[in-house]
Amino acid sequence: MSKVIDPEMLGDMRRFGDLDVSACFSCGTCTAICPLADNDATFPRRIIRLAQVGLKDELLSSKELWTCYHCGLCSDSCPQDADPGEFMAAARRYAVASYDRTGLARILYTRPAIGSVLAVVIAAFFAVFLYSGRGPQNTEEMEFFTFIPDNMIHWTGIAVMVLMAVAGVAGVVTMVRGVARRDGVTFTSLVSGRTALTRTGAALWSALGVESLGQTRYRRDCKDDEPVEPLYRRRWLIHAMAIWGFLGLMVATGLDWGLALIGVKETGTAIPIWYPSRLIGTIAGLMLIYGVMWFMINRATKYNRAASISTGSDWLLLILLMITGVSGFVIEAALYMPNPPSWGYWMFLFHVAIALELMLLLPFTKFAHAIYRPVALFFYSLAGKKVLQDA
Ligand code: SF4
Ligand code: SF4
Repeated sequence: MSKVIDPEMLGDMRRFGDLDVSACFSCGTCTAICPLADNDATFPRRIIRLAQVGLKDELLSSKELWTCYHCGLCSDSCPQDADPGEFMAAARRYAVASYDRTGLARILYTRPAIGSVLAVVIAAFFAVFLYSGRGPQNTEEMEFFTFIPDNMIHWTGIAVMVLMAVAGVAGVVTMVRGVARRDGVTFTSLVSGRTALTRTGAALWSALGVESLGQTRYRRDCKDDEPVEPLYRRRWLIHAMAIWGFLGLMVATGLDWGLALIGVKETGTAIPIWYPSRLIGTIAGLMLIYGVMWFMINRATKYNRAASISTGSDWLLLILLMITGVSGFVIEAALYMPNPPSWGYWMFLFHVAIALELMLLLPFTKFAHAIYRPVALFFYSLAGKKVLQDA
């Protein structure tokens, strides 16, 4: 690992958050208070030290960046008001922008005005593109896919997913190369022999199942808002609702396409509430809206430490998620109305355009943590840290 010092790094990082760690004198109070420090006597102050001295490669290859859930306990107890919690959040934004080679993530994080214009342009592009292929609006029965052909949505979706995957994989490769080099992990060490495979499998399960899906450490260890907050407003629950809701909508969409493929129903047609794809989609949509709504309320009111500083990119993600969730229910309402309203068709076009934009921007907004955090947790588990032991 190179030890090249970048004297500009801390100044550059300040563009990603309201941080000032120059006063930190590495006293260790943040380490003592952090519920996720495990037995690591250097977390989170090691990352702060790397930024202070400009060790960029070391910072970007630190999996520990992603284990912090920004509870803010360390910031409340820091004797120097260095706000280590916000530093960690800003460092993650900086890492996302550094892993992304296109420069888009950096623009979205640091140039909110340009980012907002870009977001509108991308949504308008998708809307105009879909509109260009429109068919008639059936007034007898709501037929979304006669208005916007399902083939058009299908292939546009595939193209967007390919772009998203290329950008996401490129970022993950950059991250993995750094973390693996620093931790001494090679491909061979992951797959050679039964013991290695078992360890790799356990680390994968721990990162994806126990922590990312189960939210285990967030739920169990980050108790900073207990018993102050009622259960419905606790940070882990809001976070989990947003994740589970989003994944549930993915499952429901896949199921709907699957049922259409085997000829059980046509995509976009009315089905009873007990149909698996509709039932899962309805519950997941409500969960997503619930989580995103609280995120928005917390950020708008600067309710807690984690929500006290927001970037344009944070808001962009929440707005896109909220629009996708709410417009999905409006479409559903239109689908079940006795006389198909014309606005139902326009809402459908709007919904698809925003959903496509959401997917396209995944590797560039705060959404990117959904890719990078599980990767970091995998390495964290592999290193025998607490996540693995708890699995
Ligand atoms: S961030 Fe604050 S609490 Fe943590 S080591 Fe620095 S001065 Fe101490
Ligand atoms: S914000 Fe919370 S989880 Fe993150 S380093 Fe500080 S105390 Fe630990």
